[in-house]
Amino acid sequence: MVQSFFSRDSSPPSHLVFTDLDGTLLDHQTYKWKEALPALDLCRENGVPVILVSSKTRAEMDVLRRELHLSSPFVSENGGGVFFPRETFRDAPSGALPAKALGRNTSEELWEWSLGISYSHLIRALHDIRKVLDWPIRGFSEMDVSEIARLTGLDETSARLAAMREYDEPFIFDGETPKDLKPLHDESAARGLTVVSGGRFYHLLGNNHKGNAMMRIASLYNRQYPSTEGHPSHIPTIALGDSPNDFSMLLRADFPILIRSKRDFPGLEKEIPKLRITRSKGPKGWNKAILNILRKSKEKADA
Ligand SMILES: [Mg+2]
Repeated sequence: MVQSFFSRDSSPPSHLVFTDLDGTLLDHQTYKWKEALPALDLCRENGVPVILVSSKTRAEMDVLRRELHLSSPFVSENGGGVFFPRETFRDAPSGALPAKALGRNTSEELWEWSLGISYSHLIRALHDIRKVLDWPIRGFSEMDVSEIARLTGLDETSARLAAMREYDEPFIFDGETPKDLKPLHDESAARGLTVVSGGRFYHLLGNNHKGNAMMRIASLYNRQYPSTEGHPSHIPTIALGDSPNDFSMLLRADFPILIRSKRDFPGLEKEIPKLRITRSKGPKGWNKAILNILRKSKEKADA
């Protein structure tokens, strides 16, 4: 059932779920999410929007969100683009344009908030930075589809969608990763750009991040359900992720969930005191964390 965003009589959702994909809702290796189905179903039954927030492209995410039967907004390329399916958002959210008007080759009816820096600008900047540092950096734009498929473990069709970038240039180091990445961060900052580390790649992007996109979407929902005095509501946010490019979301969430992975992040709990770390990896950890929060909140409401 598709819930319409603009039905004013409906009560606000109990929570907003913002989730990373790879290594979080999707298994890091297989990209499967079967183990998260019970929690996804519970979200659907309770009208809790599941908002996908990834470094993946719009093209990849549009396929995925339909396979997941989601019609909530989704965030592409580390907060660069926010997309609102028209099946839920009949009218454009304030500040959004039809994705087609922004030159997107999409048959889907989507509204778009453009929060990032254009891809062509990022490619030029990465080449420039590489020249200055003389480091063996190689970006997605210089790889063919079969190499992207090999590096990501995606099939060629999905790798082709992954190459359709709009706001974020993933890159690798050919050979050893330099121990001190400060020069790279400095060169990026000097150009008004940032570098973040994802599960597989480094990413060059604008100053947009997942956390900013999350807060904008949350505020859109909160304004949609004002109190009788006209104040926006506060719908609790749950954010789930497994990598440093997710920390901007975890920092701002009411329920920050770090999904266990191979990597350890010492000190993160100090930075994010409310942080919970799942015992299981990927979709299994996702499932348990969401079921726990939603069930506990229901028990509280019923008590
Ligand atoms: Mg991830």
